[in-house]
Amino acid sequence: MQLRPHHLLCMQKFTGHGYSPAFTAHMTALLQSLRTHPETAVSLTCGCDDLCAACPHQQSGICTSAETTAGLDAGTLAAAGFSVRESGTWAALAEAARTRILQTDAFHQICACCEWYPLCRQTEADYEK
Ligand code: SF4
Ligand code: SF4
Repeated sequence: MQLRPHHLLCMQKFTGHGYSPAFTAHMTALLQSLRTHPETAVSLTCGCDDLCAACPHQQSGICTSAETTAGLDAGTLAAAGFSVRESGTWAALAEAARTRILQTDAFHQICACCEWYPLCRQTEADYEK
């Protein structure tokens, strides 16, 4: 599976809200698969990923909010200490994102610019499911 770095955050903050019904259903299915198979191999990518595939803001493989999402990716990479092409299991990458970002002030520094931040800041990261 390929994921943009900041989607390690978004997926753990997901509470059923998204850009469209199709996007939300796709996110739900991806998360169910990863919870069932936490050892799934994940490679980070700064282009459109497996989650973007169902997003209405993805056009011909390009994110129409690229300026914002590129910043979210850069912030996530720096705060988590990941390389641009980091790879590992979902479990390992998600845990690193939790402990280094979601559970620290880095979350607020990275995510305050995002339209979903008012919701995500009130949402406990989905640690246990
Ligand atoms: S605030 Fe935005 S970038 Fe941050 S976790 Fe939520 S949806 Fe993702
Ligand atoms: S807004 Fe951009 S980065 Fe986020 S899911 Fe949609 S296409 Fe992907």
